[in-house]
Amino acid sequence: VAAKILSGEEIAAEIRASVEPELARLRRPPRVVAVSNRDNPASPIYLGMQRRTLRRHSIDLAVEEISSRTTEAELISLIGRLNDDPTVTGISVHFPVPETIDPLKVITAVRPEKDVEGTHPHNIGMIVFRDHHPVPCAAKAAVEFVLRSRPSLGGLEATVVGHSAMVGKPIASLLLQSKTEAPTVTVCHVATRDLAAHTRRADLLVVAVGKARLIRADMIKPGALVVDIGINREGGRIVGDVDFEPALAVAGAITPVPGGVGPVSLSMFLRNVVACAQGLSG
Ligand code: NAP
Repeated sequence: VAAKILSGEEIAAEIRASVEPELARLRRPPRVVAVSNRDNPASPIYLGMQRRTLRRHSIDLAVEEISSRTTEAELISLIGRLNDDPTVTGISVHFPVPETIDPLKVITAVRPEKDVEGTHPHNIGMIVFRDHHPVPCAAKAAVEFVLRSRPSLGGLEATVVGHSAMVGKPIASLLLQSKTEAPTVTVCHVATRDLAAHTRRADLLVVAVGKARLIRADMIKPGALVVDIGINREGGRIVGDVDFEPALAVAGAITPVPGGVGPVSLSMFLRNVVACAQGLSG
């Protein structure tokens, strides 16, 4: 039996609809500023996606441009100005920042209440304690597929491949949020000795690495739910980290790339934008 392909578009549309009433209740509309590096070719693509997402809800997105010559002091000072500007309710710094700049200094410089990417250490840390917003968008999106696909996660084995601070580790924390219904979570990374041994045990396999075809069909447990966060350019097309076509014959359900986690991540970004505006107006 071929795996069910889990489109992200429907889930994204539902999440977008769910924020509408919250937006309507805000005293003033959110206003987001993206900090975009003009020397990073991926930045305009992400900017376009953010703009389309926010425009549907008539939310303003302004852009502050930096370049590879921007210094750490200049970037931190720009973020400081945006933090202090009462008209700005959300700040999205596009990564990677120029090489000479310490990314952690940039992430921590953003006021946690305006952190629409959900990656400030305060916001990442809070998800260990409880359901919390803003939340890292891609991690929350990946877990949304898991929660919608299984009525209960208790007793299941979950394997997360990739342990980055903004994606893999937050996924593990989000999967563990329920006290009684959480799966048992294994997190794999470059030093994992036998990756396949861990992925083959997984009822829930979440992959966030950035290596095309890292996960072959023979590494997937028959019937497993596979959530693929990876974005890789292969030839002229975008593929995930899972060898998709062969995986279809083994998995129970799988997210496609593109069209799976991506659109849901953007709707989580929208939810963060609204949550930040709510928090600041309260
Ligand atoms: P990252 O910071 O480069 O992290 C990649 C992780 O994969 C690291 O933890 C790394 O481990 C691990 N890894 C590398 N090779 C491995 C291997 N052979 N086996 C097991 N683990 C391995 O990337 P990221 O920011 O987490 O993003 C991961 C992927 O998701 C990328 O393709 C990115 O483009 C995509 N992404 C998608 C969205 C979306 O909205 N759809 C959002 C964000 C990111 P070490 O740290 O030990 O090297």
